[in-house]
Amino acid sequence: MSGQARPANSNVRPVTPWLDDPAWLSRARRYRRDRLRWLVADLATGVAVSGLVLMLRLPVAAQERIARRLPTRPLADVSAVVSYAAGAWLLGLPSRAWRDLVLERRYGLSTQRTLPWLADQLKALLLALPVEVLVGQGVLAAIRRWPRRWWLALSLATAPLAALFSFLFPVVIAPRFNRYRPLGDDALAARLREQAAAAGIEVSEIQVADLSRRTRKANAFFAGLGRTRRIVLGDTLLDEFAPDEIAVILAHELGHQVHRDLWRLILVSTAQVTLTTWLVQRLAERMLRSFGGRLGLERLDQPAALPLITWLGALAGTALAPAANAFSRRIERQADRFALELTGDADAFIRAMRRLAEQNLHHPDPPWLEHWLFDSHPSIAERIAAAREFARQRRADRDGGPLRSRA
Ligand SMILES: [Zn+2]
Repeated sequence: MSGQARPANSNVRPVTPWLDDPAWLSRARRYRRDRLRWLVADLATGVAVSGLVLMLRLPVAAQERIARRLPTRPLADVSAVVSYAAGAWLLGLPSRAWRDLVLERRYGLSTQRTLPWLADQLKALLLALPVEVLVGQGVLAAIRRWPRRWWLALSLATAPLAALFSFLFPVVIAPRFNRYRPLGDDALAARLREQAAAAGIEVSEIQVADLSRRTRKANAFFAGLGRTRRIVLGDTLLDEFAPDEIAVILAHELGHQVHRDLWRLILVSTAQVTLTTWLVQRLAERMLRSFGGRLGLERLDQPAALPLITWLGALAGTALAPAANAFSRRIERQADRFALELTGDADAFIRAMRRLAEQNLHHPDPPWLEHWLFDSHPSIAERIAAAREFARQRRADRDGGPLRSRA
């Protein structure tokens, strides 16, 4: 398995032996370190700034000012939620700008100019506002209706809302940010369909997204539920990977479809939200009793309590993130296994992983604690090792006989 292996029937670049290149490795390490520092700083400043905003009673001041101008409650509630959502968007803007416009450019990974980036940010705010208004109103209504059990009402609403969001995402939200077209290379799609048909699986629609308008990084993903299900390949991947490498990536995404991973994720997020809202209700009630006066808050069912609830929810969500990442790594491993079994092509899988690391400047083998806390995917080194083990087992099975038991 040479690092120089040039894929047959293709004119793409060979994979460079990056694992043996200390200069490349140290660059990948620096990039990862800078990303993690950004993430930790972003979480810490987020908690600190939101805490300060609460201590300065800004949500209460905004709520009172809005109530003086808009005497009807529903309208005043909606305006308060809009002002909090826009405020949070604005407070997070410098941090996101540093990540996308400084860090990603420093490592040559970004292809986006500043104005289109700002347009993206505004678009994201405009798309999020109606959702935030609905969720904010829902939370307030639940607190007013079930003052002791609102956490349960919110947990029960999570799965249907998450399913609706997953269903709508590829047809309503994703097309606002990228152009999608059907995969033109029929040979590639036919190859996957043939392999899948042999296993009795029907493949969802395969699309290509113009990720290159923002990044050089390669990516592919599975999105949608029911009639909106689709496998999406980034043009950044399609243009750089050899056909047999693309085939195993497509097979990995098909693994997500076959394993119904979006449903599994919805189930897990429902459990996560249940735990979070239960904690948040208790913490919020306690905080209201102890510091309500200092925060200017009297009750939890007033709009000005929403930033406090969001703040506590973000804290709990951060604490639960390692568990969510562990689950995500598990389903990614299963999708890798599926891809190897369907294609039987460990060699192409390994080349695809190497190319992915190279193109995305992925540190192949990060320290375990960091990996455990922050990573949603197994490390590239682990994925390659699993593919080698798969190939070894296949060989042992083929050779058969008494060797099998020793393999
Ligand atoms: Zn995956």
